[in-house]
Parts: sequence; structure tokens; C-alpha cells
Amino acid sequence: MRNYTDERKKELREVICNQCGRTFQAENGIVKEDCIHMDIVFGYFNSRDGMNHHFDLCEACYEKMIRAFRIPVTEEEETELL
Ligand SMILES: [Zn+2]
Repeated sequence: MRNYTDERKKELREVICNQCGRTFQAENGIVKEDCIHMDIVFGYFNSRDGMNHHFDLCEACYEKMIRAFRIPVTEEEETELL
């Protein structure tokens, strides 16, 4: 989850891993550790139709999640890093 310094969500204060609860403090609105932010919009044929889910995972929890997949993730090298 993401916590901001104000209600208008202008500046990120911290990111908390939804899986393990580890907290990452932001400096000037930037978290300097890798956290994975997920925004999921459920479509018409899903039982959660009309819902959005947002969550954050630390890198360790993300690795644990994808290692549990029966089929590995598709991996490609990114040439332009953000
Ligand atoms: Zn975690």
C-alpha cells in the first residue's frame, strides 16, 4: 500500500509491502528500493467486475510469488529503464 503526505496524493511518504508489511520510506517522494506496484482492473467476465485492486510487494515477496507459479513468467530485457 502507498501512503502519501497529503490527501491529494501529491507526494509519496512510504510504501508498505502488502504481503510482509515491510515499510519503505520515501525521500522527496521517491522510494529508493525496488517495490512492485500492481493496479488490477477486473473486467466484465470476472466475478470482481467493476472493481480495481491496488497493492505493493517488496522484491522478496514478488520473487516468492512468481516462484510459486507452475509456468514461469515471461521475461524480457528492458532497454529503457525508468
Ligand atoms: Zn514483502
